[in-house]
Amino acid sequence: MNLEEQVVHSITDERYRQNEKWGMQRHDYGTWLTILVEEVGEVAQAMQAQKGWGKDSDKDDLYEELIHVAAVAAAIAEQVLEENQN
Ligand SMILES: [Mg+2]
Repeated sequence: MNLEEQVVHSITDERYRQNEKWGMQRHDYGTWLTILVEEVGEVAQAMQAQKGWGKDSDKDDLYEELIHVAAVAAAIAEQVLEENQN
């Protein structure tokens, strides 16, 4: 697999993991935005961790946190598609 395929594969795996954990999520956009921004915050934590900043409880796996952001964005996009079909 090339890099693009690896990343898309990771996002797809994360989408299935989210669905197993939470079921199919449907939220108002304000709620989605809080979920997405929380994940973006974890990306910032992981970037800070690479600099030796932050707290021990902070997220530290930058790749994983970026995949979370992409997967949440994908879940929102799925809802947008669904709404546009109705
Ligand atoms: Mg996360």
